Amino acid sequence: MDRVRTLAVVGAGAVGLAVAWRCAVAGWSVTLFDPAAGSGASWVAGGMLAPLSEGWPGEERVLEFGAASLARWPEFAERIRVETGVEVFVAEQTLTVALDSADAADLRTVADWVGGHGHELRVLDRAGVRALEPTLSRTVRAGLLAPTEPAIDNRRLLDALRTACGSAGVELRAESVEDIDALPHDQIVLAAGAASPRLWPRLPVRPVKGEILRLRHRPGAAPPPDRVIRARVHGRPVYLVPRASGIVVGATQYEAGFDATVTVAGVRDLIADAEAIVPGIGEYELAESSVGFRPSSPDNLPLIGRLTDRLVVATGHGRNGMLTVPLTVDAVSSLLAGEVLDDAKVADPQRFSALSAPSLSSAGGIR
Ligand SMILES: Cc1cc2nc3c(=O)[nH]c(=O)nc-3n(C[C@H](O)[C@H](O)[C@H](O)COP(=O)(O)OP(=O)(O)OC[C@H]3O[C@@H](n4cnc5c(N)ncnc54)[C@H](O)[C@@H]3O)c2cc1C
Repeated sequence: MDRVRTLAVVGAGAVGLAVAWRCAVAGWSVTLFDPAAGSGASWVAGGMLAPLSEGWPGEERVLEFGAASLARWPEFAERIRVETGVEVFVAEQTLTVALDSADAADLRTVADWVGGHGHELRVLDRAGVRALEPTLSRTVRAGLLAPTEPAIDNRRLLDALRTACGSAGVELRAESVEDIDALPHDQIVLAAGAASPRLWPRLPVRPVKGEILRLRHRPGAAPPPDRVIRARVHGRPVYLVPRASGIVVGATQYEAGFDATVTVAGVRDLIADAEAIVPGIGEYELAESSVGFRPSSPDNLPLIGRLTDRLVVATGHGRNGMLTVPLTVDAVSSLLAGEVLDDAKVADPQRFSALSAPSLSSAGGIR
């Protein structure tokens, strides 16, 4: 009888947890390493699954990669529900709104371009927007409805994935991995988010700081919108994602290394911009402000592929790491089975020359 193969997964964010679960179910003996499981970007994220609303001419590969993962979400969420009883979806649709004529023109550009790639988006006038979301500001003049773009509660997702990992026999070790080569496992998946280059320094992944707020609904305050609401206010992107208990308002975006400070200006801008779209949020409780680090790559696509015979990387998911979990899991499972998934070929890390340079040892050479 064949020996059970061992797999180490480094990092227990949404990516590492989901990979560990799938591989344990597939028969691997899985050890998941993380000194603070579920505390990274996956904990602070907004939970939008919005590749179509974020589409922009010229970004075909990002659109198609995101759309391929969005198509996998219903089945992935259903597997989670069956295994754990947890429903992760918190909204069914996304509505991007425009406050001025330039933004309204941009919405039409997105609708035409994304529509030209076979995905449905609907342009709405002022009355159409108000009919869907009556609590939005009267200054909103147009909208773009993405009827197939839902949102998830990322914290529910993490809890559910931990439960699923436990049931599938994944061993969770609250330890930091300092040296990939020292792990004795047959195969290793590196999924340490923005910290991944600390373990494999040639990875072109950098932290992009994001501040985000959690607002709690109070009695008498207007209810949260039914949909994800996205907008640009004074040139800054802002979004509101409904939750059972309130609204998540995100997010700032800075190149600031691993600076984990929540700044006054960040909170001020997020609240002011969100209030310009949904005036009623002033009545909510400011329950939490937090910071996360998007593991970002130079071309806004993740890095999912083999680095050595023993090491697969799954990181660099940037601002779409929740969206792209289901496709990432399928891609990593395929790689571990010796295959490459068609939908994930664009994420091959060897597209970056620093990684395709010749290795000096079987473990990946000088890094
Ligand atoms: C403010 C903000 C809002 C966002 N909103 C959205 C959104 O709406 N939709 C969307 O799709 N995406 C969103 N994202 C992006 C998304 O959160 C990330 O792309 C995703 O969470 C990345 O998941 P991950 O598992 O790769 O990384 P993480 O969740 O960061 O997990 C990495 C894990 O690795 C662990 N680790 C690090 N070093 C080691 C080590 N040496 N040994 C062991 N473990 C280690 C860490 O402790 C951590 O738990 C947002 C991100 C931010 C910051």
